[in-house]
Amino acid sequence: MGGGKAVDTAKITADRAGIPVLIVPTIASTDAPCSGCAVIYTEEGVFQTVSYQRMNPQVVLVDTEVIAAAPTRFLVAGMGDALATWFEARSCERTQSANECGGYSTLTGLTLARLCYDTLLRYGPDAKRANQRKIVTPALNHIVEANILLSGIGFESSGLAAAHSVHNGLTALEETHSYYHGEKVAFGLLTGLHLTDAPPEEIAGVYDFCEGIGLPTTLSGIGVDAADRERLARAAQKACAPQEGIHHEAGAMTPEKVLSAMIAADAMGCDREARHGA
Ligand SMILES: [Zn+2]
Repeated sequence: MGGGKAVDTAKITADRAGIPVLIVPTIASTDAPCSGCAVIYTEEGVFQTVSYQRMNPQVVLVDTEVIAAAPTRFLVAGMGDALATWFEARSCERTQSANECGGYSTLTGLTLARLCYDTLLRYGPDAKRANQRKIVTPALNHIVEANILLSGIGFESSGLAAAHSVHNGLTALEETHSYYHGEKVAFGLLTGLHLTDAPPEEIAGVYDFCEGIGLPTTLSGIGVDAADRERLARAAQKACAPQEGIHHEAGAMTPEKVLSAMIAADAMGCDREARHGA
């Protein structure tokens, strides 16, 4: 019972003890509850590895009244995590890369990942408003489903790619530690879209969504100084570690390309922010 850290700890503990696990998420800030894997960080908060369990949680029970009463930033961060699911699934499908279970995506997995993205675009802003007023509405229910169920099945069945690798790279920078997983994943997704030459209209749509619900679109939005290229290069280097999902993207992925994409994503975010603020 609790958030991502409690959920992942419970999953690993149950797996080691050989007993089933029932998850009751009290926030919808990540897609961890339904998945059969857990992320392990060092004590300093740097991404270390992913631990795979033999079974997925037997039950995931969500009371949306509890979610509605939780701080809105959690729900928004969960939308950031869920936002990447469709794009990462699509990358894995294009390159026929393995999913999180070592198999290949199915049409079901891909369709649920797409439904996750469409649900966010349709109901995200309304769900945020409901959460701010601590009320349960159909939109809030739909977003809880997207953040917890659709994103969980989507990423596990279809695989991860650039967005989560950039997130993992960013955890090497201490200044990002006070930002939530989904907030860093959102910036990782924007980086991934620039990295993979996504159509400009599509990129604009993702920025629109992030700006609309308050997900970070700039490096300063996740505590990073964009001018410090040496530190950015450290994150880019970690994002390209051999075991990273970024290699599920088409073409060879290098720290240099990732660094450029991070700077491009930040530049677009800053420009748009300046234009909107003007
Ligand atoms: Zn995630």
